[in-house]
Amino acid sequence: MASVKLTDVKKVYDNHVTTVHDFNLEIKDKEFIVFVGPSGCGKSTTLRMIAGLEDITEGTIEIDGVVVNDLQPKDRDIAMVFQNYALYPHMTVYDNIAFSLRLQKMPEDEIYEKVTNAAEILGITEYLTRKPRALSGGQRQRVAIGRAMVRNSKVFLMDEPLSNLDAKLRNQMRAEIILLRQKLNTTFIYVTHDQTEAMTLGDRIVIMRDGIIEQVGTPMEVFEKPHNIFVAEFIGAPKMNMIKTNLVKEGGCYYVTPFGARIEVDGEKGEELIQKGVKPGPVTLGVRPEHMVLAPEGGQDAIPCKIEVNEMMGSELHLHLVTEDETRLIVRVPTIELSAQQREHLGFGTQLYITFKGKVMHFFDSESGKNLIYG
Ligand code: ADP
Repeated sequence: MASVKLTDVKKVYDNHVTTVHDFNLEIKDKEFIVFVGPSGCGKSTTLRMIAGLEDITEGTIEIDGVVVNDLQPKDRDIAMVFQNYALYPHMTVYDNIAFSLRLQKMPEDEIYEKVTNAAEILGITEYLTRKPRALSGGQRQRVAIGRAMVRNSKVFLMDEPLSNLDAKLRNQMRAEIILLRQKLNTTFIYVTHDQTEAMTLGDRIVIMRDGIIEQVGTPMEVFEKPHNIFVAEFIGAPKMNMIKTNLVKEGGCYYVTPFGARIEVDGEKGEELIQKGVKPGPVTLGVRPEHMVLAPEGGQDAIPCKIEVNEMMGSELHLHLVTEDETRLIVRVPTIELSAQQREHLGFGTQLYITFKGKVMHFFDSESGKNLIYG
């Protein structure tokens, strides 16, 4: 069992700047929680307060119902993996992993059992006699994880553990962390600035900005129901298109009128607007690049644009478009839906039309940035 609860946790560093404001979160036993947000938003500080490496200015942190505010890191029963791995360079991989167990005075045969078992799970058995300098970045990362694993801690904290790896290795290690999680079956708190890592790893994601929680939810919730423009733009890549437009209500139906087009907000989205009694008027309309499609010319729901850049990504094209009033939009087009001739045609300056359906629209208050339905 290991639940973690933060109540009104605040951090003010010596320079009197409040880095974390009233942080409230309950992490359930065996949950995988990811703190995500831009650099400097307070993710590491929060993690380090949970670990006991940083004092808490106000509030309480509980692990399994016990307030740990005044407990030393070693007494909190947590394991932490850092971005820079922090391995001892003069020790072998085996000794690095065994280090904390030896400090605990565990008998050597038990240590052997634990270290070889962890090495097996992580696929580093053949490197146990090497020193860290003779390992690749990914292998070092595994040793760092191994060192945390053998301690059988209640909570596993990871601070940007993959950020020093190249893109391919990062994807591979991400999958390995998912497997590791299944094997360890413990509570994980993971810090990253990378929304893809957050989406793929987290049971729930905590999206932070300037020391404040903007939204907590499952990957699907934050993707489909972002509470505000910040979350909407942070989750998903390329980021959501934002269009200043009008929400119109006629005959009981809502419409938007981007760039002179007229598109009905139909289905569930239309019903949600009605239920919420959203007032017609100026709004910021959000539409993800993958939810915009190329349209035949001339329909009333078609928006005329010109291509500025066509990025060929392999399975899809990222078309960077500019509308007549110089608004920039990005559209993701699956290459499989285009003939070779069409692909050829989509070069700089090409005129085309795009459209989107009611169900993919997000509506935000242009001033507060709040989602008009879910915010
Ligand atoms: P993140 O992990 O989201 O990148 P951090 O928690 O590392 O953010 O930092 C949050 C803010 O706190 C930053 O503005 C950073 O400069 C500041 N900060 C971090 N550590 C200290 C410190 N020891 N003293 C003063 N300010 C700090």
